[in-house]
Amino acid sequence: MSEAVYLLAALGAGLLAGGLANACVMRTRESLIFTTSRACSICAEPAHPKELLPVFGYFAVKGRCHRCKAVIPWQYPATEAVFAVLFVVFAARALGLWGLELPMYVLANESLWLFVRDAMIVSALVLIFVFDYRAYIIPDRLTIPAMVVALVGNLALGVPMLPILLGGLLLGGFFAIQFLVSKGRWVGGGDIRMGLLMGFLLGPWLGVVALLLAYIAGAAVGVWLLISKKRDMGSHVPFGTFMALATIVTMLWGQQILDWYLGFFG
Ligand SMILES: [Zn+2]
Repeated sequence: MSEAVYLLAALGAGLLAGGLANACVMRTRESLIFTTSRACSICAEPAHPKELLPVFGYFAVKGRCHRCKAVIPWQYPATEAVFAVLFVVFAARALGLWGLELPMYVLANESLWLFVRDAMIVSALVLIFVFDYRAYIIPDRLTIPAMVVALVGNLALGVPMLPILLGGLLLGGFFAIQFLVSKGRWVGGGDIRMGLLMGFLLGPWLGVVALLLAYIAGAAVGVWLLISKKRDMGSHVPFGTFMALATIVTMLWGQQILDWYLGFFG
């Protein structure tokens, strides 16, 4: 019973966080920008109060601006739905439901704090996913606060300091070396900060798992795009998008993936 209450609370929090994310990120034709109000990107009319209702608001206004009738991007309700689903899944993880395991360092009575850390990190990761996909940038305004949450959260949850720092050094260093060797042509500063975030959050072992998952997903999508001729060789693949997705997957199932892999050698 109480578990259902927690999951419902997480659902509500996810819908609110998704709505807030939509208000903070405006999608223009060219890119995405941070803003403080949710307004029509065509006529700048502030959103109708009905539209502010998560997910359902979009359908209540029939997906159009109430003033100029411009189409509201479907990504708005989709973002809210994704936030809601992820918040529920991470609440289930914090409660040890659905076969999702608590990280070994987290005690049962710390599960609320685990959820708070995860919810904040996942919110940043979803926005990084969207930003890099749409605008080819990994904003510092997302990675740096998320890095602080990862560090403080992990220390508060009793994760030893050494693996956290080692993870940041390893993954951040991995991109920093590429940045130096290529003089910034292969990867950008945003990738280095994304690597630091992943390392501080996951530590060295799971950090490497996430990095490999991101490369596998990136390569698979890249090959698919080439075969389907949607993009040519030289075009940009938004790697931050794959890193954000891989980090979320690793937070949930990284330990199982690592155990499964190491099982081949043991
Ligand atoms: Zn409008």
